[in-house]
Parts: sequence; C-alpha cells; structure tokens
Amino acid sequence: MKRIWSTGQQKTSKTTKNQKNRIILPVLPLPEQVMFPNMIRPYLITKKRNLEVVRYAISSNQEILLLAAKRNIDDPEPENLYDFGTIGNIVQSVDPKDGSIRVFISGVSRARVLEFFEDDLILKASVEIVTEEVEEDELKIQALMNNLVSTLRQYLSTAKGFPQEVQDELESVFIQRDPTKLADTVSRHLSIFLDYQTQQKLLEMVNIKERLEKLVELVRAQIQIQNYERELDGKTQDRISKQQKQYYLNERLKAIQTELGMDPQMMGDEEELKKKILDAKMSKEAEEKALRELDRLKQMPGMSAEAGVIRNYIDWLIAMPWVVSTENKIDIEEAEKILEEDHYGLRKPKERILEYLAVLKLVERLKGPILCFVGPPGVGKTSLAKSIARATNRNFVRMSLGGVRDEAEIRGHRRTYIGSMPGRIIQGLRKAKSRNPLFLLDEIDKMSTDFRGDPASALLEVLDPEQNNSFNDHYLDVDFDLSDVLFITTGNYLQSIPIPLRDRMEIIEIPGYIEYEKEKIAEIFLVPKQVKANGLNPEMITFSNSGIKTIIREYTRESGVRNLEREIASVCRKAAKKIVKEKAVEKSKKINIDSRNVRSYLGIPRFNYGKAEENDQIGVATGLAYTETGGDVLSIEATTMDGNGKLELTGKLGDIMQESAKAALSYIRSRTNESSIIKISNDFYAKHDIHIHVPEGAVPKDGPSAGITMATAMVSALIQKPVRSDIAMTGEITLRGRVLPIGGLKEKVLAAVRANIPNIIIPSENEKDLSDIPQEIRKKLSFYLVDNMDKVLELAIKHQSDN
Ligand code: ADP
Repeated sequence: MKRIWSTGQQKTSKTTKNQKNRIILPVLPLPEQVMFPNMIRPYLITKKRNLEVVRYAISSNQEILLLAAKRNIDDPEPENLYDFGTIGNIVQSVDPKDGSIRVFISGVSRARVLEFFEDDLILKASVEIVTEEVEEDELKIQALMNNLVSTLRQYLSTAKGFPQEVQDELESVFIQRDPTKLADTVSRHLSIFLDYQTQQKLLEMVNIKERLEKLVELVRAQIQIQNYERELDGKTQDRISKQQKQYYLNERLKAIQTELGMDPQMMGDEEELKKKILDAKMSKEAEEKALRELDRLKQMPGMSAEAGVIRNYIDWLIAMPWVVSTENKIDIEEAEKILEEDHYGLRKPKERILEYLAVLKLVERLKGPILCFVGPPGVGKTSLAKSIARATNRNFVRMSLGGVRDEAEIRGHRRTYIGSMPGRIIQGLRKAKSRNPLFLLDEIDKMSTDFRGDPASALLEVLDPEQNNSFNDHYLDVDFDLSDVLFITTGNYLQSIPIPLRDRMEIIEIPGYIEYEKEKIAEIFLVPKQVKANGLNPEMITFSNSGIKTIIREYTRESGVRNLEREIASVCRKAAKKIVKEKAVEKSKKINIDSRNVRSYLGIPRFNYGKAEENDQIGVATGLAYTETGGDVLSIEATTMDGNGKLELTGKLGDIMQESAKAALSYIRSRTNESSIIKISNDFYAKHDIHIHVPEGAVPKDGPSAGITMATAMVSALIQKPVRSDIAMTGEITLRGRVLPIGGLKEKVLAAVRANIPNIIIPSENEKDLSDIPQEIRKKLSFYLVDNMDKVLELAIKHQSDN
C-alpha cells in the first residue's frame, strides 16, 4: 500500500521541471538536527524504522535523504519533517547485529522534497536536487570569504570548545577557495551554538552570497556575545549571592554523586528528614542544630561513615519526646487501691508512698526529694515503682546503674567517634516515649568511681530539680528538660549509696519478708501469675499451703520472693509438660502441689531449713549477718591449738571483721581470770594459737556486727564449754567489752525467724529499732538487750547449771 503526502513544492520549485534532477530516496529523519553537504558524519541508528531505512539503502545501494525533524520525537510523520534536506551517501556501515547500526554518511547535495510516500513500510520522498545559485560577482564572493575567515579567526582565538583541529580544517578549506564548501563547513562547526532552526535556514539558503553574508553576521554576533559574556563575568561574579553559589555547588555535587552512584535516594530522604525534624517540635536550639546537621548531611556521599554518624544523630534528636507527655494525674484513693491490688503487706512503704504522692499533688512540681527504695532483691521495689507509674498515669522506664563506672554512661559520649551513644538517661527517655515518665534508676548503690569520672555526681545533676531542666547529654549536645520526669531509685544497701546522693533522697526501706508473708504473697500473687503465664488455669493446678511452705523452706533462702517466684514458675512449666503429655493419653487430672510431691517437680531440696545448728557445740556461735540477699544466720567457729598466742583468721572476713576479731581477742585476754566465766591458766596464751573461721555459706557484708559472736565462739573454745544453739546474736564489741549498736536489725531478725532460732541477743541501743519489726514476729521471739560482753557470755555460754 502506498500512502502519499503532498509537500506543495511541485508548483513553486524552480527546478521541478528539470526531470533529470528528480529522484526517489528513503528518508532518514534527524530529530532537531541538520545535516549539511560537504561533510561526513557518523550516526548510530537504533530505532526500528530507521534501521529498516538504513538497511534498505545499504542493500539497494541507494543514497538517502536526511531531513531535520521539527520535534525530538521518535517516529516523526512527514508533517513534522522539513521538506528541505541533504542527500547523503552511506560511505561506511558497521552492523554488529545487536539491534544497532553505525553508519558514516557523507553529505552530497541539497534537496527539496516534492512528495512523501510510504513504500514497503519505509518512508520515502521524491526529491529534486537543488543546485547552488551562482553569484555573478566573483570578487564580492572572494571578499566575503576573506571577511568570514578573518572574523572566524578572531572568534576562534578566544572561543572555548573549538579544538585546534577545527581551526586547521577551516584553514585548509579556506585555502581551497570553494565558497560552498567553506560556507557548509563553517555552518556545521557553528552548529554548537546555533539552534537547529537557524541551521535549517542556512541549509535552505541556496544563494551563496546571502549565505556567506549571513555567516559573517552570525560569527560577529558570537563575538559580541563573547565580549559581553566576558564583561558580565567580571562584573556580576561578585554579585552572585552566596546562596546562589551554594545552590549551584550543591547541584553540581548531587550530579557528581549520582554520577558516582552514591545513593540518589538520599534526596527524597532529606526532605522526609526535614519534615520529621520540624514535626518533632524540638527546642529551638535542638531544631537549629538538627537542620544544620541535615545541611551537612546533604553535602556528604550517602554511604560514607560520617553520613551514617550524622544520620544517627539526627534520628536521636527526632526520636526524643520533646513535647509528648501523658496527662499527669494523682488520685490518692486510686493510688492506694492500685498499691494494694499489686502488693501484699508492705504497710509502711505503701503509707510513705501515698504521703509522697499527696505532697506531689499539692506542690504540683517535682521539687521534693527523690524516692529511694532500699532493700534486698525481690522484695518488690521495682514492682512498687511500676504501681506508682500506673497510679500517676506515667509511662514506666527502668535503667540499671549496676556496674556503671564511667560518667559517660550517664551523660553520654561525645559525638567524636562512630558508635558513640547518648547516656542512659537520654536512652531511657527515648524508650519511655514521653517527657514525663516514671524513671526507675536501679541499683544506684552499685555504681563505682574511677578515673573516668564520677557517675554519682553526674547522677546528682540529673536528679537535682534546680538543674535538671537543662540536662546536657554529651552526645545530644543540646539541653533536654528532665524536670517533668519522676525519678525513683533503688538500691540494696543503704550504706553503699554515695552520701551526697543519699542526702537528696527520701529513703524507704523494705527489709524483706518473713515466711508467713511469703506464703501470702505466693498464694495471692505469684501462683496465679505463674499459672497463667505458663498457659495453665486453676482447674489444672493448685498449690496447697504445705506445698508453698516446702518451696520456701527447702528451695529458697532469700529475703525477697524472687527465687520463690522462679521456683513456682519452674513447677508450673513441669506441670504444663506433664499435662500436655498425659492429655495425649486422655487421663489428665488436676495437679495439686503439696509437701510430698514438690520434690518430684523441683528435685533434691537445696537448703536445710532451720538447721542453723542443731546441737550446742563448743567453739561455735550463731551470728546474724547482713548479706547480699538481706539477712542470714552464720555460724562462727573458733578453736585453739598449740602455739604461741597467734590469732589466725580464715574464711570470708573483710578488713573490718578482722579488726573486730582482734578487738574481741584483746578484750578476752584482758578479762581472763577477771571475769567469772573466762577462767583459764595464766600461761595459756603463751602456749596456744587461736583460730577463727567464718564459713563461706552465707557471705556477710563486711562490718563490725559479728564482734560479739566471734568473742563468744572464742571464749567457748577457750573454756571448753558449749554455746547455746538456740541463741543468735549481733553486736559490735569494743576493747573494753562494750557492745555497740548495729544496722539492718530487721533483716537479721527475719533471718533468725527463718532459721527457727527463738532467742536473739542485740545491743541495748538497738531497742528503738524493734518497733520496725512486726508485732506478730516480735511475739514469737525473746530479745535480750545487752550493753557489755560479760552479759553476752552469761546468756550464750552453757554453764554446768544449765541442762
Ligand atoms: P526488686 O525490684 O525489689 O528486686 P521486684 O519488684 O522485681 O523486686 O519483685 C520480684 C517479684 O516479686 C515481682 O514479681 C513482684 O511482683 C513480686 N513481689 C515482691 N513483693 C511483693 C508483694 N509484697 N506483693 C506481691 N508481689 C510481690
């Protein structure tokens, strides 16, 4: 099928009648490009239609018509093609058979299209060759040529982008004195600054004089532009504002980054980051800083380590709860209900917490002291804090300070190395997701100080309401307001909490539970919690009182209930396994845990309950100690052997305990044969050594409170009379035998109760502390208040009259 387009050229053309100039040629469109005669150009042909044209021309050994297309479109129709073009000769072709052909086309002559038509799916044109209009005035042409060349030389002397070869080529063409060739060559080279429409006009100028004149005019115009540009360069350079320059440089940088394959994605990210920064409603200082860092980030290759560091920093700033907070509310009745709901007993701590909350409600600012719960592990310190969070509608977050030695762990590391991080306070706040959480700082007594700074003083700043509204973490490096945070701290030993910190806090001591309390806690809280947590329900498993008691007595030895809870969980897990297994054989029945079957779940008992010392023994006295886990009983052993009066100490004795042992011995020696009890031969010490041993079982905290126990054990060994095993004691001894008060009385008393020891010797000055001990416990015990060692010996050493 043949489609025909008329170009309207048939009538107007001067050469239409010249039939021998008419030829039919396949058409190769050149989008917004003009081909001139007298030049050779390479073309890479890739479009299907053009490939067909070129292949057709090559196979049929035909010339080709090159026409400029008016728009840069893939598949131009004849109406988008100029009807004046250049006939070309394919002088060379390379067909690598990969869907493209490289051809070299030599422009042969100008041609005007008379008619377009499609033939064999190839666009063809019937054309007439256009010959130059020869100028009569040869001299004029020569003059114009000279003019053009000299103007060109002037232009090329300063123009950029023309290699030396271009000048050389122009010179050689000039020598040939062929005006057409010169005009076409110059036209082609000027194409770098002429648009294709102007080039097309040059092509269509068949009058050589006109064309040369036009070229001179165009080159002169270029020279003018060049001069003008140079002037502008000088003048306006200074005026280009810094911002524009920066913009320009940034654009360049981005282009380079893209060129280098450096995360073109970053662009979108940056916009998003900026939005997030603005949305985070940071403090003004922080926002400025974040935006500044974002600017730095933009100028950095996306994958570089430093970009990662900056990104991380910005993320931290964004993630901080600058304005997010939960609605503060304090309803004392509600708080009381929650505390009761979650905890058994703890009457005094609960009362103090409620008082604290009441004050907080009245003053509305957290200017008061910080609460500090002190007590052995597992007594409910964390759990109380969680209840307070619930009662005051605050998010809860917890950070342990155990083992913190470096100030930077509180205050953060400076952002100088990869992997630096904010300190624990800022980390906690990010985790809390609100600016007013209840922040529990655990184990503040386990911090220590070394060359890396004092974490306690950093913590003081955090806790100080006068300073903490502008807490500056080294990593964030901008202030963050901590004044809405409700801090609560916990520790195991009051004595280990740094004194300046202790002064800022309201200490609430939770000494530990007696067996009865543990039973109740297990029954009401721990058992239901663990039954549920292990996928069971009360129809499947129950714990009888005797079962719970056995777990407490034979599988745990603690002041709190942490291990008790663990053991109950362990029973539940094993029961669950049993139930699942038996269900398979359809004979599951309810499990009841009692004193008889506990062993089958928990194995051999771990502790000998109540077996502190079953018999009265010579040289063995029962002391009460303050240990890691609260209070405990410990047996102190003493013996004598041949020697020359040395005192030997073995076992777990700290420096203070050793001093205390020496003091006890000095007292004994000074009282030998003075006191009615210490009766031995006068040369005894010259011939004997004394050895004191503190067994490893319970690890007492180093302190002087074992003084009277060591003295008792030694006296017993010296006079060879046994110590009563139903008496436990605690008290510091002086050289003159005075008994001084001790700390941790409640814990120690509880330990005695656990060990089933009914008689307790305590320093008289500790009488005031007895009121801390619950009435029902006090009732079960006999307390002996003493102020000197003679009295202790009288009470503890079995005499002949005793039986
Ligand atoms: P701490 O922080 O003092 O080491 P936790 O608060 O973690 O101890 O308590 C350990 C477990 O014992 C928790 O499951 C807690 O609920 C439970 N618990 C402790 N004391 C009581 C109590 N008086 N009443 C109910 N549960 C308790």
